[in-house]
Amino acid sequence: MEKKKQVLSCIQPTGDMHFGNYFGAVKNWVDLQQKYDCIYGVVDYHAMTMPYSPKKLRENTWALIFNLIATGIKPEFLFIQSLIPEHAELCWIFNCFASYGQLTRMTQFKDKSTHGNEQDSGGFISAGLLDYPVLQAADILIYQADYVPVGKDQEQHLELSRNIAQRFNNQVGKEYFVLPETLFTEVPKVKSTADPSRKMSKSAGEKHYINVFGDEARIRKQIRSAVTDTGDSTSGEMSAGIQNLFELLKAGEQLDAYDQLMKEYENGTLKYVALKDAVADTLVNISNEFKARRKELDSNKKEVKNQIKASSANIRKKAQQTLRDVKELSGLMNVKF
Ligand code: AMP
Repeated sequence: MEKKKQVLSCIQPTGDMHFGNYFGAVKNWVDLQQKYDCIYGVVDYHAMTMPYSPKKLRENTWALIFNLIATGIKPEFLFIQSLIPEHAELCWIFNCFASYGQLTRMTQFKDKSTHGNEQDSGGFISAGLLDYPVLQAADILIYQADYVPVGKDQEQHLELSRNIAQRFNNQVGKEYFVLPETLFTEVPKVKSTADPSRKMSKSAGEKHYINVFGDEARIRKQIRSAVTDTGDSTSGEMSAGIQNLFELLKAGEQLDAYDQLMKEYENGTLKYVALKDAVADTLVNISNEFKARRKELDSNKKEVKNQIKASSANIRKKAQQTLRDVKELSGLMNVKF
C-alpha cells in the first residue's frame, strides 16, 4: 500500500476559537484526517511573538487542545509545540539559512509591525515577530511534510520554507528536505457580522467574532444584529453582510435552506430575519454539539492532558530524528541519548 502523504498545520493558542477559524481552517483539518497522515500543532512559541499574557498562555493552549478534540480532531494527531523543543533548535539552524531581507519583506510582518494597524503590536516589535516564518519553516520541515493546508495569506511563508529547505540542501550537498507544497482547499472567508467589510477576527474586538464555544443566547444575538445593509451595494448587487450570512449557511452545510433562501433573495421576497434565523440555528447546532463533547472531555481533564503529552512525545520522535540528521549534515555535534 502506498504511504499516505504527510499533512502539517498549526494554530496559535490566542484565545477563543471563532467561526472564522472553524470554517476557515479547523473543519478542513477534520476532513483531511480521512485521507492523509496528519500532524496538527498548537503553537505556543508562536503565540509569544506578539504581546501576550504568560498567565493565560498555558490556559489558552490547553483550552485550544480541548476545543480541537471537541470539533473532531484526533488526539493522536495533536501536539503542543513547546513539548517538542526541537522546533526551536531547528529554527536557530534555519535562521542561518534564511535571508534577513526576505523576512523583512513578509506581508504579515509588515502588517503586524506597523503601528496603528489592526493587529497592533503595542509599540513593541519583537525579533520573534520577524523570525516567525523561520519557526514556521521548522514546524513544517521537521516532520518532512508533503502538504501544508494554508490560505493564500500564508503562501508567502510557505515559499520561504521552500527557500530555506533548498538553501539547506544546497549547502549540505544532499536533497535532504522535500519541498513542501501548499494544499489549497476551498475554505470560506468569514467576515465580521458587526462589520462585514473586515474579516471575522479576535484582534478587532469582541463584537467582531462569534465564539464557537460561546453562549447560545449571545450567538443568536450576534446573528440577529448582523449588519445586512452596509450601504456599499450598488443596485442589484448583494451586500457584503447578506453575502456573509449566505456564506455561513453554506459553510454549515445547510444547502437546502441555502438554495431556498437564495431563490427568495433572487425573486425579491427574502425576509432578512428568516435568513438570520437559519444562520443562527446552524451555528447554534454546531456549537451545541461541540460544547457537549467539550463537557465530556472536561470531566476527564487529566486523562485528556496525559493523552496529549503522550501524542506529543510520540510525534517528537520524528522531530528528533530530523534534527539529528540536520545536525549531522550541518557539521554540528549530536548529543547521544
Ligand atoms: P488565527 O488565529 O487568526 O491565526 O487563525 C487561525 C486559522 O484560522 C488560520 O488558518 C486562518 O486562515 C483561519 N482564519 C482566521 N480567521 C478567519 C476568517 N475570518 N475566515 C476564514 N478563516 C479564518
